This record gives sequence, structure tokens and C-alpha cells, in this order.
Amino acid sequence: MARIAFIGLGNMGGPMSINLVKAGHQVRGYDIVPEKTARAAAGGVEAATSNPNAAKSADFIFTMLPTGKEVREVLVDDDEIMDIVGPETIIVDSSTTDLDATEYIHTHAAKRGLRLIDSPVSGGMAGAEAGSLTFMAGGDSAAIDTAEPVFLAMGKKVVRAGGPSAGQAVKVCNNMLLGISMVGTCEAIALGEAAGVVHRVLFDVISTSTGNCWSMNVNCPMPDMVDTAPANRDYTPGFTAKLMLKDLTLSQEAASKTGAVTPLGEHARALYEAFCDERNGEVDFSAMVQMMRDMQAK
Ligand code: NAD
Repeated sequence: MARIAFIGLGNMGGPMSINLVKAGHQVRGYDIVPEKTARAAAGGVEAATSNPNAAKSADFIFTMLPTGKEVREVLVDDDEIMDIVGPETIIVDSSTTDLDATEYIHTHAAKRGLRLIDSPVSGGMAGAEAGSLTFMAGGDSAAIDTAEPVFLAMGKKVVRAGGPSAGQAVKVCNNMLLGISMVGTCEAIALGEAAGVVHRVLFDVISTSTGNCWSMNVNCPMPDMVDTAPANRDYTPGFTAKLMLKDLTLSQEAASKTGAVTPLGEHARALYEAFCDERNGEVDFSAMVQMMRDMQAK
């Protein structure tokens, strides 16, 4: 049994913290929105009164916050969590952040002799609820070994991505490809419809041929093809278009920072930006198929 602080109890952090309780850990959680803290408390998480209050005497501190900005504020600049813990504590940031933010927190942790892992996740809200997330862990390998049983209380797989910031780097690569493949899938569907091909034929051929991918086979934008796909429930997420725009923006920031050339990533980002400006960004990102159809109709 470990003492775990959980900071950020939203769509992902709420169920993740509750899964830690179910695995027998002692969890103290905090969210700036009191209803989120109360919801986690109903699942057995002890409600802390502030972020530093949650972090005090913890063996592990998890942050699951919206962006790198909040992660910097909580760990270093405002709540100064890094100044109230010692090297016996392992800090894990599981938020999806920009590379500058993850480098910033690693630099500050190293200066203080603290152990920090950047470990974003894939699997979405369904994976957070089911305890089937994949963790992509970057940082000191001995710290990752120590944290592994805690990761596995919330997930099924821990990928050792490499040194500091490698978790965030691989996450951004995966999600850029996901955004591109979803746009491509929606484009192929809109072309098929325009050419008179019925949905069942499009699905049966593409999902078993060389065009197959997660965007078609699992998160299919056409209703009535895959039982669990958001298209069957009016594109209720799933993974929102807004979060996809966030991740594609992060991939393009990473590309400028590293000098990588990612023209399709930039094109997918611009399409999701247009989607979120003109439509409801809170729907599943597979609703891009509707924008593709409307673009053809113009
Ligand atoms: P969310 O907005 O539901 O949760 C974030 C929580 O952090 C909110 O409840 C917010 O009130 C809280 N918060 C903000 N500032 C805070 C502070 N200073 N102190 C304490 N709490 C604070 O977001 P989410 O969907 O849970 O996503 C969290 C992270 O996980 C994001 O970085 C996101 O990109 C990533 N992610 C999300 C999904 C998904 O499907 N939702 C999948 C993979 C990764």
C-alpha cells in the first residue's frame, strides 16, 4: 500500500484516483473545482484542502492537469510542490503537455535532486474508468520500476519511452498520426459516399485491407459499423475534437522546436481548428466526417 497524492480529478484523474483506491492504496486528492474533489471522495479518495496539503508525506504524487501551464504552476511556480517534498517521493506528471513544460519540470526536479517521471497516457476516458490505460514513461528507469505497480493499478501497460521528456515526445507522435489518420478516414468516407459506395461496403473493404487503421476499425466515423464507436451515439466522446486540436497543436510546436517537417500534421491541425471554430468542439473527433461532407457540398 502506498500513500498517493492525486492532483487534478477531472475526466481522467477522477476515475484514475478511484482505481488506485480500489487497488488498496491510500489516496489524497485535490481539484480546484470542489465538485470534482467531492466526486472522487465519493469513490473513496480522501479530500485534501489544497495541492500542497494533498502532496504532504506522499510516496507518489500524480498530476493529471489540462496543460503544461497548470503543471508548471502546481509543481514549481505557484503551489511549489517541488519545494515541500524530498527525494523519497516520486512525482509523476500524466497530463499531456508541451515539450517546453516537461523540460521545465524535469530541470527543476533535477536541481532539487527529486525523482520525476513524465508519463502521459493513451486509452481515453473509457480506459481511465476501466483501468486499462497505457502509460508512456520518460525519466529515470529505477524510478519507473518503483512506480510500475502503481501504474498497473490504473492501466494495463507501461512503455519505457526513454529519458526525461521521452514520454511526452512519443505521445505527441502517436496523437499526430491519430489526427492525420482520422482526417484521412473521414476523407475516404466522404469520397466513397460521393461516388455512391454504401457504408457497409466501405467499412468491410477498408477495415480488412491496406487502409485499415484504428480510426476506421475501432472509432469508425460511420454509424452502425462498430458497436462501441461514438458515431452510434451522435458523436458523444470518446475523445473530443477540442482535445485532438490541443494534441495537434502540441505536435506542431514540437516540430518547430526540433526542426522536424510535419506538413500533414499541420494540415490536420488546421482542419480541427476550423472544426472547433465553426462547430461543437466537445463532440468526438470522428465527427470530422460531417465537415468533410459539408466541404464537398459547397
Ligand atoms: P479535465 O479538464 O477533465 O481535468 C483536468 C482537471 O484539472 C480539471 O478537473 C480541473 O479543474 C483541474 N485543475 C486545473 N487546474 C488545477 C490546479 N491548479 N490544481 C488542481 N486541479 C486543477 O481534463 P482530462 O480530460 O481529465 O485530461 C487531463 C489530461 O489528460 C490533459 O492533459 C489531457 O490532454 C490528457 N488526456 C485526456 C484524455 C481524454 O480522453 N480525456 C486522453 C488522454 C490524455
